[in-house]
Amino acid sequence: PHPIVIVGAGQAGAETAVELRKIGYPGRVVIVGEEAYLPYKRPPLSKAYLAGSVTAESLYVMQQANLDKAGIEVLTGRRAESLDRAGKTLTLSDGGRLAYSKLCLATGGRARLLSLPGADKPNVYPLRSIADVEAIRAHCQPGKRAVIVGGGFIGLEVAAVAVKLGLEVTVLESLPRVLARVTVPEISEFYEKAHRDAGVDLRTGVQISALEGAERVTHVVLGDGSRIEADFVVAGIGLIANVELAQAAGLAVDNGIVVDEFTQTSDPDIVAAGDCTNHPNIHYGRRMRLESVQNAMEQGRAAAHALAGQPRRYDMVPWFWSDQYDLKLQMVGLSAGFDRFVLRGDPATRSFAAFYLGDGRLIAADTVSRPQDFMFAKKLVALRAEIDPAVLADESVPLKSLIP
Ligand code: FAD
Repeated sequence: PHPIVIVGAGQAGAETAVELRKIGYPGRVVIVGEEAYLPYKRPPLSKAYLAGSVTAESLYVMQQANLDKAGIEVLTGRRAESLDRAGKTLTLSDGGRLAYSKLCLATGGRARLLSLPGADKPNVYPLRSIADVEAIRAHCQPGKRAVIVGGGFIGLEVAAVAVKLGLEVTVLESLPRVLARVTVPEISEFYEKAHRDAGVDLRTGVQISALEGAERVTHVVLGDGSRIEADFVVAGIGLIANVELAQAAGLAVDNGIVVDEFTQTSDPDIVAAGDCTNHPNIHYGRRMRLESVQNAMEQGRAAAHALAGQPRRYDMVPWFWSDQYDLKLQMVGLSAGFDRFVLRGDPATRSFAAFYLGDGRLIAADTVSRPQDFMFAKKLVALRAEIDPAVLADESVPLKSLIP
């Protein structure tokens, strides 16, 4: 029999393989990955790995010896170029062909690149891979000038690390506030202040007209004509899901590879998991594409169950985190559409929580450096608990006591 093949050696692909073994799948499992590395965790890329405090090997989901022990084959440095669904075969970039019994697409995404005059110069970097961070780190010496385009999670995490390493850091965000797509003005404002207090030159509502310089970018030119000196530029402007392989093979694609709640695609022999999927979420009653470790792992596990013929519903409440300076942001649920916002604690103390209610029920929470509150908020959001806003705001009432 042909192996189960997983395309994409990221966290979703790795978790799918590991879970297949956990549930006793006895056959061959092969992961195909275009990067040169074993499957690794990306969150530290813009945190500890950029800071230089951990090694590349420490990012691996599993070391080679453990993959061997589990009987998980990883073909690195090879891209799946095309997928023949009728023949159940992949063609790889080294010319090889790989037949599968069942297939998992865990192709993730790639960084969106700047489309500006000068953006093709060699000192302009995306940040998605180990290779990207190694290139960026070569510039990270005290006094160097970093210009970061994008005030989202990745841009802000890079800013926090770079300024701590002694660089002069400018962050340029085109929207009126940072983190605008993921949180409310109160939280954006808190993070803007934290970055400015740390010495970051943070500018919102700015347009960039060009990246200027002969061979390398030396200045970033803004829409108002002002110029910012730069030794290098990092772009954190979002992700493009890798759907081309699925699309060319005729699978349903719509802002991600379309899967059902069991990770099944429109082909009964193919599942998909992670950043590349558009999946239904019963908690919010709609489809979504998420970019988070939790989604990659949980959906990978569900994919393994589907591949092994033991389908299990994927129905998680989304959660996410971001580390900047000493601040640990943890978010659970999706706040879009909330009608009531409640603050618990004083942001000035750098430890507080924000709750979002819809029709009197808790639909999401953001906590800053409050891991205890986060733990209980996760439970309350999953329950869609009906809570009096005044009680949520009252710090003398432990969140734990609100869990029925
Ligand atoms: P990916 O990690 O994108 O893996 C897919 C892999 O498949 C890639 O290696 C790709 O090269 C490969 N591939 C694609 N197409 C092919 C093909 N045709 N053939 C072979 N290989 C292919 N999430 C959090 O929850 N918290 C965080 O703090 C956080 N921080 C982050 C910081 C950074 C800098 C980045 C980049 C991401 C961060 N994330 C964070 C997001 C998280 O890392 C992703 O959601 C997660 O890695 C998704 O895993 P994945 O396996 O779905 O996709």
